[in-house]
Amino acid sequence: VIPQYVLAPYVRVGFQKNVLHCGFGSIQIKVSNPLLQHSVLTAMKHWTAPSRVSDTVTLLESLGTDKVTIDETMNLLTKSPLLIPAHSYAREQRYSRHGLFYNLSGAEANEVQKRLERSHVTILGCGGIGNLVSVSLATAGIGHITLVDNDQIEISNLTRQIMFTEADVGAEKTITLQAALRQRASECTVDVYSQQIRKAEDLSTLPSCDLLIVSADMPEVMSWVNRFAVKSGTPFINIGYVNDVAVWGPFVIPGETGCFDCTTLVARDPVSAELKGHIDAINRHYQAPSIGPVNMAAAAAATLDILKYLGGFGTVHSKNRRIGLWTHSLEQEFQECIRNSQCHTCGATNVDK
Ligand SMILES: [Zn+2]
Repeated sequence: VIPQYVLAPYVRVGFQKNVLHCGFGSIQIKVSNPLLQHSVLTAMKHWTAPSRVSDTVTLLESLGTDKVTIDETMNLLTKSPLLIPAHSYAREQRYSRHGLFYNLSGAEANEVQKRLERSHVTILGCGGIGNLVSVSLATAGIGHITLVDNDQIEISNLTRQIMFTEADVGAEKTITLQAALRQRASECTVDVYSQQIRKAEDLSTLPSCDLLIVSADMPEVMSWVNRFAVKSGTPFINIGYVNDVAVWGPFVIPGETGCFDCTTLVARDPVSAELKGHIDAINRHYQAPSIGPVNMAAAAAATLDILKYLGGFGTVHSKNRRIGLWTHSLEQEFQECIRNSQCHTCGATNVDK
């Protein structure tokens, strides 16, 4: 059977200063040659309905288009995500719009969706980030989510913990979030662990998963997670914020990327016990200025990396680095954390498996 294709629904075309733009965003192709413009637009219009490549070539030949122009036209249209397999997009299907995004990213939509459905993620921390990431993943078709937290909902949470209502104040975050996710994604298995992670060993009591998502606001959790992840071979990503800076990464894949200890990403204890005492006292006084939009910025960027990793499409930008979006200036900061063979946690001689 000769495959049929159709113009991808995300393709729009238009002229800007006599240059034809085929598609916008990362798939944009610019055509300046008037002969080619005519041929490309004729072929694209023909492909608004399913057609084989040979049928479109025959059409162009029948219109008197020369061979070189036909070859260039086919090269341009078939070697980019401008065309998708015919009948692969069904408007009414639940994940159809996400499927178009996977196609746009050069992937096969059904394969991505199947990989997401087979995935199990564990979310440590059900606050602002945990709320946003969990609902985005559940509604995207992730098959299994484990929620871990032992906090109760407070009225001051409602500015950013969007899955909770006023009526939920005082209830367990995990149980409430589980119910809210089930209302929106009944096919997703959601289970809960209403417990606090107090030490690295607590992590090994959780079910194994494909990805740990760390959105807990306790700094020491990161080093526990990192050690556990390296030892068990479990990938993880950290998501949060530092005051006005939305932060995501590093996305750690043990054996492939750097880990949280490969380089110094965050402040460490000083040598002096007296200064450590002062620093601890000052830091106990700290309260994060947590605002909805900064939670959303970090959660949004990280969720896209998570879908790319689990779905197997595009580039996971937070691998080997911690990314900060400084929301006051809109500048981005990248802290590199590539693999360090001398790392005391993941270095070749130090992994006790
Ligand atoms: Zn390391």
